[in-house]
Amino acid sequence: MDGERNEAEQQLHDQAGLPQQVISQILDTPVIAGEPDIPRWSLSRLGEFSLATTWDTIRTHRPRIQGLEDIWRAGLTNSIAIFNWRLLSNRIPVDSKLQWRKIDLASKCQCCPRSPNTESLQHLFIQGRGAFCVWREFDGWFGGSAPSLRINDTIPDRLEVWSHRMQQDDRKHLCRVIPYLILWYIWAEHNRSRHEQTQFKSYNVVWQVQMFIHNNMANGTIKPKH
Ligand SMILES: [Zn+2]
Repeated sequence: MDGERNEAEQQLHDQAGLPQQVISQILDTPVIAGEPDIPRWSLSRLGEFSLATTWDTIRTHRPRIQGLEDIWRAGLTNSIAIFNWRLLSNRIPVDSKLQWRKIDLASKCQCCPRSPNTESLQHLFIQGRGAFCVWREFDGWFGGSAPSLRINDTIPDRLEVWSHRMQQDDRKHLCRVIPYLILWYIWAEHNRSRHEQTQFKSYNVVWQVQMFIHNNMANGTIKPKH
């Protein structure tokens, strides 16, 4: 019996790539031989268990936002982690969202000096001139064969694309932290520029991200090799 279980577990792990917790749930569902009450796998037409249907359930029933789980493992401060969680859950109020709620605002970004745009999350964090310059700067740190950043990336897309840069072993941990720091310091710079009625300055963001990395490497929170 144990051998069978191990074999099934191995199969679910190797072939379906399911997380351990899901594998245990599947294997712990009791199946009693000889009883009239036969469990049927309702997801497949004939009621037989299949990996494909299992995968389908997990995929459709547990929508996942790229990067959301990673936030808590990245070694960020609580404020930075919570901010990123709110951002990925679409809970950060920028102008386009406030306008949608019928609050009258003249929505002009502070991040494009020549032709100000309507401020949206997408604009502020990815497409605007300020954000663009920040991402480009840090992208330069990680050369190699990683897929390139696209101007039409959504924020979760950007995290996904960035995660491929982690394959460079010596910078793995650093790489995981950087996109969250970029998003956080873009937000800080946005607030500063709003408050002081001045231009958004991308070099402020770059500087702050670098300082964070520098200070946290010095005290050992972020390790260059991980
Ligand atoms: Zn802008």
